[in-house]
Amino acid sequence: MAGVSRTPLIAGNWKMNLDHLQAIAFVQKLAWTLKDSGHRYQDTEVAIFPPFTDLRSVQTLISADKYEIAFGGQDLSAHDSGAYTGEVSGAFLAALECGYVLIGHSERRQYHGETDEVVAAKVQAALRHGLMPVICVGETAEDREQHGPSAVPVGQLRTALQGVPADADIVVAYEPVWAIGSGQAATPEQAQQVAAALRQLLGEVLSAEAAERTRVLYGGSVKASNIAGFLREPDVDGALVGGASLDLKEFSSIVRFQKHVGV
Ligand code: PEP
Repeated sequence: MAGVSRTPLIAGNWKMNLDHLQAIAFVQKLAWTLKDSGHRYQDTEVAIFPPFTDLRSVQTLISADKYEIAFGGQDLSAHDSGAYTGEVSGAFLAALECGYVLIGHSERRQYHGETDEVVAAKVQAALRHGLMPVICVGETAEDREQHGPSAVPVGQLRTALQGVPADADIVVAYEPVWAIGSGQAATPEQAQQVAAALRQLLGEVLSAEAAERTRVLYGGSVKASNIAGFLREPDVDGALVGGASLDLKEFSSIVRFQKHVGV
């Protein structure tokens, strides 16, 4: 079971899906479904990452109806304001009461050329604005073959942590690129092995206390049928869920993983 001192986090990355009207309907149904099933948010935190254009609607709904679902952006600018057409400042996300922001998702690295240095600058931007960065790291199948499972994710995290104070609140998401959207999830043992290496790095670069406190998520083809296996591992503290986060029944069931972990 994930570290007892760390509250598990189940996070849904919607990617470029659901407009603001669909988002409102989805969040309402998710909140009702979790309420009906007696979900206790203090036991498992729930966060969603909708597209930027949904965030104001999601914020208004969550705030008006006092839902305990956290939310955040899927990216942010490394800059705070100015001539950066198309970018979104962390200040704007903070003004919308976002608690989190995804940084360095493999799709940003792959399709938008985000380097480890850009990711590190975005982590700094998130911390400047009081947003908790969810730092995404992970190896491609080729990386794994050439360098083993942990080298690339550990190297990515090392750069992302440059300048991060030991007392900063961050989340790390281990997402092997070969497992994202492929239907071929890592095994719980594979996830544990890299999560443990990432936690060790947190201890070396930040502090032993930071390593103990920081949540390390697994992401990559997580479903209701495989979530329990990941959360039984001592260094896996939750999941970043892509495709399955758009299916209400599936996502609610993932959130309720404690029901099927059997602890
Ligand atoms: C993701 O995009 O972060 C992800 C984990 O996707 P999926 O769950 O669809 O593999």
